[in-house]
Amino acid sequence: MVHVSFPYSAPVSQTLFDRAAAVTPGGVNSPVRAFRAVGGTPRFMVSGTGPYLTDADGREYVDLVCSWGPMILGHAHPEVIAAVQEAVARGTSFGTPGEGEVALAEEIVARIGPVEQVRLVSSGTEATMSAIRLARGFTGRAKVIKFAGCYHGHVDALLASAGSGVATLGLPDTPGVTGAQAGDTIVLPYNDIEAVHEAFHNHPGQIACVITEASPGNMGVVPPRPGFNEGLKSACEKNGALFISDEVMTGFRTSRAGWFGVDGVVPDLMTFGKVMGGGFPAAAFGGRADVMAHLAPAGPVYQAGTLSGNPVATAAGLAQLRLLDDAAYAKVDAVSERVRALVTEALTKEGVAHRVQNASNMFSVFFTDREVRDYDGAKAQESFRFTAFFHSMLSQGVYLPPSAFESWFVSTAHDERAVEKIAAALPAAARAAAEAEEVGA
Ligand code: PLP
Repeated sequence: MVHVSFPYSAPVSQTLFDRAAAVTPGGVNSPVRAFRAVGGTPRFMVSGTGPYLTDADGREYVDLVCSWGPMILGHAHPEVIAAVQEAVARGTSFGTPGEGEVALAEEIVARIGPVEQVRLVSSGTEATMSAIRLARGFTGRAKVIKFAGCYHGHVDALLASAGSGVATLGLPDTPGVTGAQAGDTIVLPYNDIEAVHEAFHNHPGQIACVITEASPGNMGVVPPRPGFNEGLKSACEKNGALFISDEVMTGFRTSRAGWFGVDGVVPDLMTFGKVMGGGFPAAAFGGRADVMAHLAPAGPVYQAGTLSGNPVATAAGLAQLRLLDDAAYAKVDAVSERVRALVTEALTKEGVAHRVQNASNMFSVFFTDREVRDYDGAKAQESFRFTAFFHSMLSQGVYLPPSAFESWFVSTAHDERAVEKIAAALPAAARAAAEAEEVGA
C-alpha cells in the first residue's frame, strides 16, 4: 500500500469505468489498463493525434505508452489512415488469400534475414503459442525453457513467472492453468546462462525450445547481458532444440530489423506483433523454411485463423512499415535519448535512487540504485516511488505506463512541444517520488 493523493478527478472517465465494471471483469479488456498498480481512475481515451491522447474529460496527454508499442509513428498518421480507409472501402474480410498479406510477409522477410517464411496471425499471444507448438511438432519433444519476468502473451504454458500484467498485479501463477499445461515449462532466471546449461543437462533429449524476449521489456527494460542470446543459440544448437526469439515488442521498433538488427543473433523462429500491425490486430511468427514447412497445410502441425492476414490490418501494418526508414528510427532513438536524459536529470536533482535502462529506444525507470539484470532485481525496486511519480506526471498531462514493470515508448511524432511538456512535468514528479512513503514502512 502506498500513500497517494490523486491530484484531480476525471469524472467522465470515472462514470465510464463504473459502467464498464458492471459489464466487464474489472472494467477493462486487458488487466494493466485498470490502474490497479497505481490506483485512481483509468483514463478513457477518445482520440489520439501524433504524440497526444485526449481523454473523455477533454484533457490532453503526451503519450509515452503508444498503445504499448505499436504506434511508433504516433497516432492517426495520415498515410496509415489513408491506407486503412482505402482498404476498408474494398471490404473488411474475405476469408481467402489476398495480395496485402503477401506484401506484408514479403516486407517482413526482406527486413529480417533469419525469417525465410512467415505465417500471419492476429495477436502476439497467437504467435508465441503457435511457435511453441511448431517447435514441439518439429522436434518431437515436449519441454520449453522460458525466463522469469519474460512475458509471451497469455499462453497457458508460458504464464509461469511471467512479466507484464502478471508482474504488475503481483500474481504468483494463474489459476486455470493446469499442472499438465505448465508441467513441461522450465522457468529459469533471466540472464543466467549457467542455469540454461544445467537444464539441458538435467533433461537430455526432452527440451523442444528456448523462448526468450529478444530484449525483455515486460519486467521493465532489462537487456540481455553481452553474449547471453548467443549463449542461448549455441546451447539450443548443441542440444537439438530450437531457439525462439520473441520480438513482439522489439520487432520493427528497436531497429529496422528489431533486436536481431541490434545483436545479430540468428534464431530458428521469431515472433512479431505490435508495430507490424500499425495499431490493428496483426502479428506473425516465422523463421527457418525447413521448420515452417511443418505447418499445415504444407505439413502436419495445425494452425489457423478466421481473421489471419486481415486486409485492413495488413494494409495498416504495411503502410506503417514502409514509412519506417532509417531516418524514422534515428528520430525515435533521438527522442528516447532526450527523454531518458531529462528523467535522469530530474530524479538525480531530487536525490532519488534510480536506474534508467534502455534497449535502443525502449526504456524504463527503476527506482533502485542497482543495475536490474533479472526479475528479482526488477521486483526489488521501490515501486511506491513510481506510483507517486506516475500520478504527478498524469496530473500534468503526461501519460506513462501505469506500472513500474513496463517499457515506455516514444514515436517519430514526439516533437519539441511534446518533449517540452515532459520536461516541464518532470521536476514536480521527481519531487513526488522523493517524498513518497510506503504505508506500513
Ligand atoms: N510477447 C511479448 C514480448 C509481448 O510484449 C506481448 C505483449 O505485450 C506478447 C507476446 C503478447 O502479445 P499480444 O498482447 O498481442 O497477445
